[in-house]
Amino acid sequence: MILAHKIELKPNNKQRTYFAKASGTARFAYNWALAEWQAQYQAHQENPALPKPTQGALRKQLNAIKRDEFPWMLEVTKNAPQMAIIQLGNAFKRFFKGEAGYPQFKKKGVHDSFSISNDQFSLNESLNQIRIPNLGWVRLRESLRFNGKILSATVSRQASKWFVSISVELDDVVHKRKAENQGVVGVDLGISSLATLSTGEVVTGSKPLKKLLVKLKRLSRSLSRKQKASSNWRKAKAKLAKLHARMSNIRKDSLHKLTCDLTQRFSIIGIEDLNVKGMMSNGKLARHIADMGFYEFKRQLEYKAQMRGNLIVIANRWYPSSKTCSSCGAIKQDLMLKDRIFQCQCGHTQDRDLNAAMNLAKYAVSYTV
Ligand SMILES: [Zn+2]
Repeated sequence: MILAHKIELKPNNKQRTYFAKASGTARFAYNWALAEWQAQYQAHQENPALPKPTQGALRKQLNAIKRDEFPWMLEVTKNAPQMAIIQLGNAFKRFFKGEAGYPQFKKKGVHDSFSISNDQFSLNESLNQIRIPNLGWVRLRESLRFNGKILSATVSRQASKWFVSISVELDDVVHKRKAENQGVVGVDLGISSLATLSTGEVVTGSKPLKKLLVKLKRLSRSLSRKQKASSNWRKAKAKLAKLHARMSNIRKDSLHKLTCDLTQRFSIIGIEDLNVKGMMSNGKLARHIADMGFYEFKRQLEYKAQMRGNLIVIANRWYPSSKTCSSCGAIKQDLMLKDRIFQCQCGHTQDRDLNAAMNLAKYAVSYTV
C-alpha cells in the first residue's frame, strides 16, 4: 500500500525562487511533450511506419536537445522535466483506459509543482529536512509520518505556501476484500456529530455515550466529595474506572463501524490532521475530542486501509478545510467556531461540517492527480 504525507516546507527566498523555477520547468516540459505527442501521433496516423509516441522516447528526445534549445532547464534538477514527462505518460495511460479525460496543457500558476524520484532526494528525519538536487537542504514543518520505502516526492504550491508530498510504500499486507471503489470521500470529524461525509451523510455518535456522560459527571462529582483513600472513595473510584472502560468500548465500537464502512466503500479517503495539542488548550473542545476519539479514528482507518488497499490522504494541519469555500475556494478568515453554517461572499451557504468534508474530498483528489 502506498501512503502519502503532505508536509509544509519552510523555504527561504532563494529556495522559493528555485521551487518556482523548477515548477515552471516541469510545466514547460509537460506542455512540450504533450505538443510533441500530438504531432507524433498525427504523423503516425498518416504514416504507420512512423513510431507511436511514448513517454520514454520523448524523455530521450528532450534530453538530446535541452542543452542547446532550453539551457535554462539545467538550472534545476533534471528530475523536474523527466518526471513531468513520465506523468504525461501516466495521464495518457489513464486516458486510454477510460479513467480520465484527454491530457490538457498546464497553465502557469495553476497547480504549480514538480516531482523528484527517490534516488534524487534524501530526508534528514532528525532535523526535519529534505535535500533537493541543485538546491540543498530545505526545512520541513513536521517529520514524515510513515515508515517504509520512499517512492517519490512532489513539491507544490498552494496559495503562497509550498508543500512536499512524500509517497511511501508500506509493507504489503493487503489481505481483505478491496474497496468497492465508489471513488473519493472527504471525512470531517465533528463535534456535534461523529463525522460528516462529503456525500452528505452524517454519522451521529452513539446515543448511550451521551447518557453515560451524564452519569460520568455525577460519579466524578461524588468522588471529589469523598475523603481521599477512604473505602467509599475507593469504591467510587472503581465504579468510575468501570464506566470509563464501558464508554471507551462504546466509542471504539462506533468508530469501528465508521472506519469499516469507509474503507469498504471508498478507495480514496481524505481526512484532516488535527492539531490536537492546540485544540486541547480549549477545555470544552478537549472533552469532545476525547469523547469522539480522533486518534483512535485515525489509527483504525490507517490499519484498515492498509488491509484493503485504500489510499488515505491526510490534509496537513494548516489546511483550512473549514474556512475554505467548497464552491469558489475563497477563504473566510473570520469563521468562528460557533458558526455552524458556512456562508461565503459568492453566495454559497452550506452546513459547516459538510463544507469541510467536501474540501477534504477535493484535497484528496488534488493529491492523486
Ligand atoms: Zn464561495
